[in-house]
Amino acid sequence: MRFTRLRLNGFKSFVDPTDLVIHDGLTGVVGPNGCGKSNLLEALRWVMGENRPTAMRGGGMEDVIFAGASSRPARNFAEVSLHIDNADRLAPAAFNEHDQIEIVRRITRDAGSAYKAAGKDVRARDVQMLFADASTGAHSPALVRQGQISELINAKPTARRRILEEAAGISGLYQRRHEAELKLKGAESNLTRVDDVIENLA
Ligand code: ATP
Repeated sequence: MRFTRLRLNGFKSFVDPTDLVIHDGLTGVVGPNGCGKSNLLEALRWVMGENRPTAMRGGGMEDVIFAGASSRPARNFAEVSLHIDNADRLAPAAFNEHDQIEIVRRITRDAGSAYKAAGKDVRARDVQMLFADASTGAHSPALVRQGQISELINAKPTARRRILEEAAGISGLYQRRHEAELKLKGAESNLTRVDDVIENLA
């Protein structure tokens, strides 16, 4: 599974549709301070399902929408799409029929985010799991923020273990275990309620 193209439209400083084509080998992005290099990396995290506005350097998720400039009005939506080459069939089984997969996330003011994968409406969780199962995603240690190396050096052992889990490709399973535990807790509290009701009827 290889990322081949990132397309931004109305995302942060990228007000006009912009394509970043990722060829084989090393791709470098160079430019003066403030030209939008970090915004590109944030767009990649965002389309993979990032849901923390702080990770986008914003106060709310709508801050990713182009906020306007002296010569241009603000936009009402932002959209990022990521093209994935799935020739190696490393994407989850549901996408096995596709050589290419396009993931799209769009946020509209006052309406929140919507996702599409291979042309179908999907939930944020589906997109997050797709990338987690391929050992990547918005929290992948392969995406290194400024200051992150010193954070890792000072991190607690549990936080370091997450990185090893990501590298081992089991972070998707970890997420599923968490969801199963929540369901189990829900079922246990339902059983307790049933016991109470039976007791009242007896
Ligand atoms: P540096 O080299 O200093 O790290 P950079 O190339 O990584 O800079 P970014 O931090 O990606 O630059 O981009 C910052 C620019 O993005 C700023 O000019 C900021 O005004 C602009 N920007 C951020 N959010 C928005 C938004 N919602 N609307 C319009 N412009 C935005």
